[in-house]
Amino acid sequence: METWNLALFVSEAVLYFVLMTALLHFRHRIGLGVFLTALGVMHFVETYLAAVFYIALPFGVVSPGSSVFFAGKLMMILMLYIKEDASTVRQPIYGLFLGNLVTVAVAQLLLLHQTIEPTPAQAADMQFLRDMGLLMIWGTTLLYLDSLGIILLYERLGRPMSRLPVIRFWLCGAVVLTFDQAGFFLLLSYLFNAPMEVFWGGWKAKMVSVALYAAMFALYHRLLRGVGATQARRPIRDIFSDLTFRERYEDLLARTGRDVLTGVFDRGRMEIEGPHMLCDSLKEGAPASLMILDVDYFKSINDRFGHLRGDDLLKTIAGCLQSEIRQQDHLFRFGGEEFVVMCPRTGYAEAMVIGERLCAIIRDTVRNPSGETVTVSLGIAAAPEDGNSFNGLLSTADERLYRAKGEGRNRIVGRPAAEA
Ligand code: GH3
Ligand code: MG
Ligand code: MG
Repeated sequence: METWNLALFVSEAVLYFVLMTALLHFRHRIGLGVFLTALGVMHFVETYLAAVFYIALPFGVVSPGSSVFFAGKLMMILMLYIKEDASTVRQPIYGLFLGNLVTVAVAQLLLLHQTIEPTPAQAADMQFLRDMGLLMIWGTTLLYLDSLGIILLYERLGRPMSRLPVIRFWLCGAVVLTFDQAGFFLLLSYLFNAPMEVFWGGWKAKMVSVALYAAMFALYHRLLRGVGATQARRPIRDIFSDLTFRERYEDLLARTGRDVLTGVFDRGRMEIEGPHMLCDSLKEGAPASLMILDVDYFKSINDRFGHLRGDDLLKTIAGCLQSEIRQQDHLFRFGGEEFVVMCPRTGYAEAMVIGERLCAIIRDTVRNPSGETVTVSLGIAAAPEDGNSFNGLLSTADERLYRAKGEGRNRIVGRPAAEA
């Protein structure tokens, strides 16, 4: 009896994996919607089975709903991520999450009905609808955490396990499903005093399923080379942003935070990003520097050659600065012909060197329409020496810029010698 159940259990896992993988594999021909819809449909069956359908296996009483199909769904979400990317996989993650919440809401409304029996002995299963309450909300929350968790863990394991895709796939499933089993058991034991055997039975069944899925993944991997190896490595934080829809906002920021004339970041962007860049550096225990740069005698350029020529010169200067700063530094247009450069993880001495270089490159390469040298003045402030607030650094750098102007322009002013 138990052996027969086990054989059926394995067949269900194989059938589920083969069919779902086929839908995923042929997504470019049939559309990804087919795979996603199938995932959602199976999700319903799985929920129903997990509530009412239990079988005896050699290692305990389990529900194929949670061990075969729930585990399978998570592995499918991971496979979708491996084959596509975070912005694709978040669609089913959010679809399942919100769909579950809709189901709970609808179930509560349905419970208010007076139902009739279409034929004798076909009463509505009100208990099933009642079960769609707290348990379902908790399950839904866990599913959401599991889905994000399995992807972030997969990425985290990327470097140490880049040559072991199957072990990586298996380990992600094993860890996340252990977490899931513990999370779900917590509520079951709280609500129904469920004994520990329920935890172990379900856990073993999930581990068996994950092992089966990893074996089939290995087979698939071997038969169709390149699966899993094609993902470029990205920082975990980027992936999390994609998964949680944050990158839409960042996209918007990327498009709107630009200065129209010069194309560099604008002041609004500086006010959002500057404090973050500073804060990130300080959190890492690193210094950060900020410089303000103002073009010398720019008004006379406008007066002599006209505003449009002045604009062109501003563009040239911005382009020149942009190409001279390092990748980690950000250039913002602060005002008319004033620019701010934010240098994260950069101490005062290093910032002075960068500032000198910026002054020199403008002096050596930029010319006004008459072919005369154009110069800039620069004020520098650094955290933590000059304080840890962005606005504090900005005003200190501004004071030093004015000192640079007062001392004759075409120079850079940092901390007074006594303090430096
Ligand atoms: P200083 O060396 O003291 O900086 O002298 P300055 O003439 O550069 O003085 P200031 O920085 O106060 O003047 C900035 C001038 O920049 C004033 C304004 O006419 C000009 N300006 C500001 N924004 C723009 C712009 O978008 N295009 C053009 N063409 N000129 C601008
Ligand atoms: Mg100026
Ligand atoms: Mg100015």
